[in-house]
Amino acid sequence: MSVARILSQKGRDVVTIPPHFSLSDVVALLAQKGIGAVVVSDSSRSVLGIVSERDVMRALAAKGADVLGEPVSRHMTANVAVVGQGASVPEVMDMMTVGRFRHVPVVEDGKLVGLVSIGDVVKWRVDDIEGEKRALQDYIATA
Ligand code: AMP
Repeated sequence: MSVARILSQKGRDVVTIPPHFSLSDVVALLAQKGIGAVVVSDSSRSVLGIVSERDVMRALAAKGADVLGEPVSRHMTANVAVVGQGASVPEVMDMMTVGRFRHVPVVEDGKLVGLVSIGDVVKWRVDDIEGEKRALQDYIATA
């Protein structure tokens, strides 16, 4: 299955935040949307960075609560691993495993068009295994 297929099922909306917003805005957005990461982007929809709950925890542990007033740009990961819509789901799984992150923005022509999370990948894998199980059961029943 391709990333495009996942996006067609889950939708292409991505929660973003401008780089000058505060870490406190990130916390509010993560809580309000019930998500684990926000893509840092400007009005042109280009990916400037990504900030996840881990970045917030790391910043709080290092500097205390005052850090919540600092801009997102100071705490985001700027070197973001992205994929195109034609990438396969196993490719994305490999990226997440090697890079040790749970979110991968999907980019086409330099613009953000979606986001794949580890939850999407796990759902795909479970559906895949269920499909294989049903096929084997049908095969055994008709043999
Ligand atoms: P996560 O597991 O997605 O919560 O992120 C763990 C760490 O990896 C955080 O420091 C994130 O900023 C960073 N991160 C998350 N997604 C990506 C990505 N696609 N490319 C590079 N770094 C990322």
